Amino acid sequence: MSSNSFPGLYLHIPFCRSKCPYCDFYSVTDLSLVTAWVAALIKEAAFYREKFDGFDTLYLGGGTPSLLTPAQLEALLAALRRYFHFTSDAEVTLEANPDDLSREKIAAYQDLGVNRLSVGIQSFNDRDLTFLGRRHTARQAVQALEGARAAGFANLSLDLMYALPGQTEKDWRETLNVALSFQPEHLSCYQLTVEAGTPLGERKTRGEFQAAGEEMEGALFLLTSEFLEDKGYFHYEVSNFAWGKKNCCRHNLKYWRHVPYLGLGPGAHSFSIVDGEDGAQGAPYIKNGVRWWNQADLEGYLKALAAGQAPVAGRETLTPEQFRLEILYLGFRTRRGVALEDLRGYGNWETALGDLEEAGLVEVVQGRAQPTRRGFLVADGLPLRFGD
Ligand code: SF4
Repeated sequence: MSSNSFPGLYLHIPFCRSKCPYCDFYSVTDLSLVTAWVAALIKEAAFYREKFDGFDTLYLGGGTPSLLTPAQLEALLAALRRYFHFTSDAEVTLEANPDDLSREKIAAYQDLGVNRLSVGIQSFNDRDLTFLGRRHTARQAVQALEGARAAGFANLSLDLMYALPGQTEKDWRETLNVALSFQPEHLSCYQLTVEAGTPLGERKTRGEFQAAGEEMEGALFLLTSEFLEDKGYFHYEVSNFAWGKKNCCRHNLKYWRHVPYLGLGPGAHSFSIVDGEDGAQGAPYIKNGVRWWNQADLEGYLKALAAGQAPVAGRETLTPEQFRLEILYLGFRTRRGVALEDLRGYGNWETALGDLEEAGLVEVVQGRAQPTRRGFLVADGLPLRFGD
């Protein structure tokens, strides 16, 4: 996988043209505030100019980054490049909705140094797209990808969603096949989660549709993994697949490996390693982490920056125990797994690991406990097997 020791930079673009009924990400639909947000984000970046440097990834996520005009994006990127150093091979990802990907925008992204597009396709089936309340059609999705490829975009990631009500295995295979016809370098396949409090959650409570159910979700998960691995993709994280290890999302790998990252924008999270301590009685050096996050409220965010303050809402220093547990939670979500070294601290580690191997959920490869395909299916439960 790509080099992963530099920190990453994340920008949260908190705007959407309309709100998809299943979405619980923070975003607003009042686009009149975009200009003020651009100015505020540039001010926020200035707070960190001495503190972070040498980023090798920039990830523009949201919300809907592709609704920024090329001029707004140019102003943002110019300021970031003034304040921070980016490595010459930095991965610059922009999340885009298919209905925004006009020829002009695609060309502007290339001119501005965006070298990876993550396109929110979700499905190539119009019935699914209507259910999800997406603004685009399957035809628009195809046109957007054709446009990106025709313009020479050599690094495309597609977001797809499965376990939709009424979706059969055949429907899902069809969506995967259309996706593969574009030979994407990367695919993220998420299971639909109906969150309480969203419009979709309310519709479910009213009994307006029947969720896919656990059995179908599990079957579709295994189908996805098998299908894509058969086609040569590397299933490197529960929901993520790469065409060769070099195409793993370099930015997201940082989240799973405790590599520092700076998040700017409302609701963005940041992480940094702080000095560890030499544990008593010969225990190994303990790394530790500090995390902080911004207010997930655009108005509060703008107000704080107008008053010359960083819009930080909270921070926590992980205890060594929390840090150790996170290594398990994050590690078991990736094919790379967890180093046996990191399991040894748990009293029952040998028995727990043996049980997981016997159940076919984990295999030990070169000193690491790595989840199998079926292990991925229960990834969040694997750390619970280890205790003191
Ligand atoms: S476009 Fe993306 S971020 Fe915006 S509401 Fe839809 S799913 Fe959520």
